[in-house]
Amino acid sequence: MSPRRRPLVGRALAQRLLVKPATSLDLESIDPADTLGHDKQAGAVTLAATTDRLGEAQERLWASKAGAVLIVLQGIDTSGKGGTIRHVMGAFDPQGCRVASFGVPSPEELAHEYLWRIHRHTPARGMIAIFDRSHYEDVLVVRVHGLVPQDVWRSRYDQIVAFERHLAENGTTILKFFLHISRDEQRKRLQARIDAPDKRWKFRRGDLDERRLWDEYRAAFAEALTRCSTDFAPWYVIPADRKWFRDLAVAEIVAHTFDRMKLEYPQGEVGIESLVVP
Ligand code: ADP
Repeated sequence: MSPRRRPLVGRALAQRLLVKPATSLDLESIDPADTLGHDKQAGAVTLAATTDRLGEAQERLWASKAGAVLIVLQGIDTSGKGGTIRHVMGAFDPQGCRVASFGVPSPEELAHEYLWRIHRHTPARGMIAIFDRSHYEDVLVVRVHGLVPQDVWRSRYDQIVAFERHLAENGTTILKFFLHISRDEQRKRLQARIDAPDKRWKFRRGDLDERRLWDEYRAAFAEALTRCSTDFAPWYVIPADRKWFRDLAVAEIVAHTFDRMKLEYPQGEVGIESLVVP
């Protein structure tokens, strides 16, 4: 019998899923069904403990206002951005957390440069912002559909790195997750949306046209992740065919990042520790 692989958590899990800055990412070499040694049952216990830690860490962030946290979620249609937000980010107090979703830009947004609509949603000190899609759409869908000339989207990788550096140097901790599913898993999830009456509202015929562009999207993601994973705004590739593992992996990396921020509650007023409320 081969020894069971010890499940990776915390720093080891984060290191494994990190897109190492300045290295070329080969998405095909990452198994979307990997669980890094976890099984579903024990994984649920780990996730529950980790989401408790997330709640505590957020309270310290909110109380201390020691920084801001930006979490970016990207992935192909059906990769589970919404599910991740519900399961992992549900740990946070809604007072201290905002979700911003970025769809097709409005005429007003299109009249500005592409980071304008993004910058307005970056988190204030003490807050967490979760981006459901992001400025990366401007080198993903925009590239795949040729919505702007090639030299325009090509120049955006460096601009995005500069933008994220600016945010990081001004107190924002940035984490970016690519939810990595297989082509076959997407087929199943799209079919499930068609088959189940209560999921049909999520399906549009256009989803099938996008699916035909799978390889183009893959190439666009690989380049964006390769060029824009930095020490100050790292990308992580999350194996996301198993929803329970996707949630666990994202929670572990967010919790590990909070640990590294070493957030402390602020000191109370001097001399109050001996007060007795009459
Ligand atoms: P979702 O599919 O995430 O549930 P929507 O139905 O609102 O949400 O879809 C968002 C759509 O907006 C996606 O097809 C996405 O590619 C598109 N989109 C996002 N940002 C841009 C952009 N900058 N330019 C063009 N299309 C964009």
